[in-house]
Order: sequence, then structure tokens, then C-alpha cells
Amino acid sequence: MKLSLSNTRIGFASAHFIIGHNKCGKLHGHNYFLNVEVEGEVPEEDDYLIDFSELKEIVMKIVDPLDHKVLIPEKAAHLTVTKDRPEHIRCTLHGDEGKTYLFPEEDVIFLPIRAISAEFLSEYLVKELQEKLPEYELTITVFETPSSSATSTSSDIRRK
Ligand SMILES: [Zn+2]
Repeated sequence: MKLSLSNTRIGFASAHFIIGHNKCGKLHGHNYFLNVEVEGEVPEEDDYLIDFSELKEIVMKIVDPLDHKVLIPEKAAHLTVTKDRPEHIRCTLHGDEGKTYLFPEEDVIFLPIRAISAEFLSEYLVKELQEKLPEYELTITVFETPSSSATSTSSDIRRK
């Protein structure tokens, strides 16, 4: 049995940059939204796989910390992050751009991925959700725009 949670309000508004990308190399933002699919067996004692509102609450707890933040990829190859001035983060993008951004620390969140692309965001979110819901097969699609998305599944995570 598979159920899905899909709503443009399940998501986050964040800023990012994709190092080395012609257009997305510049700091800009998206209203990201998600489609979350949960697959498993309906337990004998219940009539549903998982409570929709409970699922929504768990997903929102994972995405809320990303909302209205600048997302920084911790594992990016061409990025140097240093602490600068009190409570400031300096990000130097190497390569074609060779530019530096300075952010207040409170506006930034670091994610353990190599790029803030829909691909790696979906992988990160599946991993986080899988920790909270280990008994299900999960699929998360991250929409960067209504027509551009990337999908990761529990089995993608297990393969790593
Ligand atoms: Zn973008």
C-alpha cells in the first residue's frame, strides 16, 4: 500500500547557489515543495498505513529548519567556508565565479550534501525522514519549480 502527501505548502523557501552553474551560480531562492510517498503494509489492528496529519507534522519538522535560510552544502568541492567577524560565515566559491558571500550565521543552515540541488536535497530529506520512519519505504520528490523536480527513495539511500 502506498500513500502520498503532496501540497505546495509542504516545503520551504530558501536561498542557494550552485557552484559552477552559469545561471544558478548566483545567490537566489526558490519556494521548494515536496511530494512524499510512504509505502508499507497496513497493520492488522489499523485501517490506515500512517496518519496523514502525523506524517505531515514529521515532514514539517524536517523542512522547517531550512525555511527562510541560506542553504550551504557542507560537502561542496569548490567552496571554502570560514568564520568571519563575530557570528558571520564567509563562503568563497572557487572556479569561474571566484566570489565571496558573507552571511550572518543565524541566516545560514549547513546541509551534509555536496550541492544544494533538488537531487541532493531529496536525498537528504529521504535520509532524515527514514530515521523517523524506519519501517516504511519512502519516496520524496523535491520541486524547485512546478516543472522541475528530483526524486530519491529509501533504496537509493541504502545503496550508498
Ligand atoms: Zn536555484
